[in-house]
Amino acid sequence: RVVPNNLEAFWMPFTANRQFKANPRLFVSAKDMHYRTADGREVLDGTAGLWCCNAGHSRPRIVEAIQNQVAELDYAPAFQMGHPKAFELSSRLIQLTPKGIDHVFYTNSGSESVETALKMAIAYHRVKGEGSRFRLIGRERGYHGVNFGGVSVGGIVGNRKMFGTLLTGVDHIRHTHDLTRNAFSRGQPEYGAEFAEDLERVIQLHDASTVAAVIVEPVAGSTGVLIPPKGYLERIRAICDKYGVLLIFDEVITGFGRLGQPFAADYFGVTPDLMTTAKGITSGVIPMGAVFVKKEIHDAFMNGPEHLIEFFHGYTYSANPVACAAALGTLDTYQEEGLLTRAAELADHWADGVHSLKDLPHVIDTRNLGLIGAIELEPIAGQPTKRAFTAFLDAYEKGLLIRTTGDIIALSPPLIITKAQIDQLFDTLRGVLKALD
Ligand code: PMP
Repeated sequence: RVVPNNLEAFWMPFTANRQFKANPRLFVSAKDMHYRTADGREVLDGTAGLWCCNAGHSRPRIVEAIQNQVAELDYAPAFQMGHPKAFELSSRLIQLTPKGIDHVFYTNSGSESVETALKMAIAYHRVKGEGSRFRLIGRERGYHGVNFGGVSVGGIVGNRKMFGTLLTGVDHIRHTHDLTRNAFSRGQPEYGAEFAEDLERVIQLHDASTVAAVIVEPVAGSTGVLIPPKGYLERIRAICDKYGVLLIFDEVITGFGRLGQPFAADYFGVTPDLMTTAKGITSGVIPMGAVFVKKEIHDAFMNGPEHLIEFFHGYTYSANPVACAAALGTLDTYQEEGLLTRAAELADHWADGVHSLKDLPHVIDTRNLGLIGAIELEPIAGQPTKRAFTAFLDAYEKGLLIRTTGDIIALSPPLIITKAQIDQLFDTLRGVLKALD
C-alpha cells in the first residue's frame, strides 16, 4: 500500500476525511473505464467518478479540446465579453434539450445551477408582476447540492440540521420511497404515482399565489436511487400547471445520457420549465454547470419592464472558455460514439445484472433505470456501521469502484461500458455481497 506522507493539510469533504486518512485510497491515473491506483492496480469505474464521467476517462477529444483552448483563449471576463465557443456550445446544447427549452445560463457546478434556478424562478414571477410568489417546494429525500438554497429545498435531515432556519418559505412534499422500497421493480414501479398529490396539499397549505417553484430530481440519485413510479412526474407537472407554479427538474445526475436519452425530461416525456445540469456536461473533467430555461422565462427577463429587472446573477467562471471547450469535446464524444442513447441499448442487460443480486443475504431491494442501479442492504440494528460501506472498501480492494449512501449501494458507470464489463462489475459485486456478515 502506498501511503503518502503529505496528507495532513488535505481536507476531504464531509466526515469522510476521518476514515480516509486512516485508510487512504489514491487514484493516480485513469483511462476509459478504469482508474489506476497508487499501488498499480486497475479499478473498474462503477460510478462514473461521482455520476459525472459519462464519456469515460481521459478521452482524446476532450483532452485535445482543453489543451487547444487553454493555449488559444484561456479566459474572457464573464460579465462583459462573449467568445465563440460559448455561442457554439449553447446552440449545440439546445438542440439536445426538450422542445421549448431553448436558453442556457452557465454555472460551475450542480449546486450553483440549483441556486441559479431557484433565484431565476422567484425573479421571474416578480418580473411578471407576481412578486408574491417566493415560496419554494422540494421533496423529502431530495438532494440539490450543498449551498444554502439547495440544502433548504433538499430533504436530507443530516445536511440541514446544523444550519438553523435555512431559507424561509420552503416546504417539502413527501417522497414515494416508503411505497417503492422492497419493490424489486425492474424500471419504474407500477404503483405510487398518487404520492404526487402531496404536492397539491403543500401548495394549498401555503396558498398557491405565494408559491414560485417546485424542484425535483426526476430520479433521486444521491439519496439512494429513488425511481419515480409510472405517471408520478406527469402528475407533478399537471399540478404545477394548475397552480401556475414553475417546475424545475434537477438533472445534475440524469442529464447527458444517463437514462438513454439526452435528459430525463425526454425519457419521462415531461417538460419542466427549468432544468439544472452539471457533471456530464463536461463528462466531469472541468467544473461546469448549466441551467436550461424555457423561452418565456428568458424573454421575461429580456423584455420585461426595466424597473422590475433587478436580477443580478452570474459567476466569474460562467461560460469559461476552457470549460466550454471541454463541453464541446464531450458533446463530440457523446455524438460520435452514440453515448446519449447507449444506456437505452444496455438497459436490459444492466437490469439483469442489478436484479441478479436480489436473493443475496441482506439485500432488501434492487432498483434500476437506464444505466443507474441500486442495491439496498438491511441496516445493522443499533449500529452506525453500514454494510454498504464495508462493501465499498472490499469492492475497491477487488478492483471495483462503487458508491454508497447509507445502506444503499449506487451504481452509474460511464456510458462507454461494455456488456462484458457489466458482467464483470456484477460478478465482483456478487462476491463482495456474499462475503458480508
Ligand atoms: N443536484 C443533484 C441532483 C446532484 O446529484 C448533485 C451532486 N451529486 C448536485 C445537485 C450538486 O452538484 P455539485 O456537487 O456539482 O455541486
